[in-house]
Amino acid sequence: PTELETHDFDVLVIGAGGAGLRAAIEAREQGLKTGVICKSLFGKAHTVMAEGGIAASMGNANPKDNWEVHFRDTMRGGKFLNNPRMAELHAKEAPQRVWELETYGALFDRTDEGKISQRNFGGHEYPRLAHVGDRTGLELIRTLQQKVVSLQQEDKRETGDYFTKLEVFAETTVTDLLKDDAGRIAGALAYDREYGKFRVYRAPAVVLATGGIGKAFKVTSNSWEYTGDGAALALRSGAALINMEFIQFHPTGMVWPPSVKGILVTESVRGDGGVLRNSEGKRFMFDYVPDVFRSQYADTEEEADRWYKDPENNKRPPELLPRDEVARAINNEVKEGRGSPHGGVFLDVSSRLPADEIIRRLPSMHHQFKELADVDITAEPMEVGPTCHYVMGGIEVDPDTAATSVPGLFAAGEVAGGMHGSNRLGGNSLSDLLVFGRRAGTGAVEYVAGLGNSRPAVNDGDVQRAVEWSLGLFEEREHPENPYDLHHALQDQMNDLVGIIRREAEVREALTVLDELDERAKRVVVQGNRHFNPGWHLAMDLRNMLLVCRCVALAALERTESRGGHTREDHPAMDPQWRKVNLVETLDGDGRVELKRQPVPEIRQDLLDLFERSELAKYLTEEELQRRAGDES
Ligand code: FAD
Repeated sequence: PTELETHDFDVLVIGAGGAGLRAAIEAREQGLKTGVICKSLFGKAHTVMAEGGIAASMGNANPKDNWEVHFRDTMRGGKFLNNPRMAELHAKEAPQRVWELETYGALFDRTDEGKISQRNFGGHEYPRLAHVGDRTGLELIRTLQQKVVSLQQEDKRETGDYFTKLEVFAETTVTDLLKDDAGRIAGALAYDREYGKFRVYRAPAVVLATGGIGKAFKVTSNSWEYTGDGAALALRSGAALINMEFIQFHPTGMVWPPSVKGILVTESVRGDGGVLRNSEGKRFMFDYVPDVFRSQYADTEEEADRWYKDPENNKRPPELLPRDEVARAINNEVKEGRGSPHGGVFLDVSSRLPADEIIRRLPSMHHQFKELADVDITAEPMEVGPTCHYVMGGIEVDPDTAATSVPGLFAAGEVAGGMHGSNRLGGNSLSDLLVFGRRAGTGAVEYVAGLGNSRPAVNDGDVQRAVEWSLGLFEEREHPENPYDLHHALQDQMNDLVGIIRREAEVREALTVLDELDERAKRVVVQGNRHFNPGWHLAMDLRNMLLVCRCVALAALERTESRGGHTREDHPAMDPQWRKVNLVETLDGDGRVELKRQPVPEIRQDLLDLFERSELAKYLTEEELQRRAGDES
């Protein structure tokens, strides 16, 4: 491939969502030549779809809020499996990242006193989500893009060229990471979607910020780009994934009409007063408050309703339990025959708020239901049900620098694991992107500075082999397979066998199906040529999805307990022994997934001291509690 177009950077960021752009801005501001690659159009990432808001304990709506309270909520939401250092950094740094965004040009909704407004969300003790109506992600991406452009203009003034220090390559998909002979990152191989031409990006540091894996499931809020590329690229380059069994099924996706099944209905509908009812009209969430949360949630509808006006003296409505709890409850109502006509439940805001207020607070939801389902949410309830939304598991990283175990490889945002433990709280992703995106940028800059003159060189043989694999998909084979058929089969199986409720026999069955799909994938043949060819692109994505799904299934089989985004019907309880275990997956020399148990990092004493002993007793083992008691005496 001597004729391949080549680009040189100090730092290469893969992904232009919130995490990638924040990392790129950091690397460029610290003076490094930075490239950004994204699979779709610049500005079209998951981040743009985020509706509800960004969690940061600024204390504007309730002065009692601070990083300690946010840390506690995050650990509770993740059922104490979070990497505690990540949860700490996130809670401490989120407010700075939100204020900083306004210096880039963002403008959040305001309180009457002119402060950044904050709204309620599931699992957050105080109103904490800074927002712009229900279009927060759009503002986030728009502002980060604006910052990128303003930095490029600075460079143009200084050097006469916009792209001397920061360049974005849109509609470009990375297929392989490249390493030097010493095993250090040396760059990435990508193709442009329009012409199907390959390009080599040489860079000693790569930040993976490729988002999630939702497209491996049939019903999902995610869009076409999210095929687990980052997780698979990391694995194949020698890095590790952790806790891939934890997948968040958002409780409220649209269930009707079929063409839009899975599209998200923001949690803000519940945060702003919307309630869930079954076909009998009952507010069923009161029946599903688990013991660990009992003391924080209302017992009666009256108390729950009073909470919206007077949160100091009343307990929260159970509709605002963490997402895993609400999703399981809806699943159960439907299973027991109390679902809505199209297999969901009813989410009603129309009887709770005046029409003009609904339109003001939830403009996108109003529009979405009118356009897609012909439902006026100011007049009638929505039908909603669980949808695959977010992956808590991901690439194992160092909390402070976002470094993976591969020299020169960093990861931030949804593609990284650890921060959210077994379940993410709403609003904690946008803040995660900015906090750890920035840290990954700094991590990469420091790594490159430490290299001095010893820059890693791309191995041409690796490039050749990678290009040959991709082009080999056009070759004729016996019993050819179509990539779309395989993708649909994979999505069906993941939804049915490794979905919201899991059982040993079914997960085993899924692994057998994955073996078969792997075999069939070897015979995939794509039609047409390299010019904008979605079938060919999907065939390349399939390799990533199959690998990542195997990691999800293996971890789901191994963890014999139920916690957060992993529910085992055959092991329904949360087990304190399992709280101490991270499941870590890597590839062996033959490319097979290896799974190991690894201890969860210890929670520092001062962080543990933020909790009452009675609360810790719900999560920690007796031995851990005694050790803590011993420390205190
Ligand atoms: P993304 O924003 O997903 O961006 C990934 C980038 O990587 C894209 O540019 C993509 O093109 C690129 N990419 C992927 N693969 C490749 C490849 N192989 N080569 C090159 N580029 C690649 N979170 C909140 O905190 N609050 C909310 O209100 C909220 N609402 C949400 C609503 C919806 C509908 C959805 C789907 C998610 C929501 N989330 C919310 C979650 C949050 O939006 C995502 O977790 C977050 O945006 C992920 O950001 P990211 O930067 O990690 O990746």
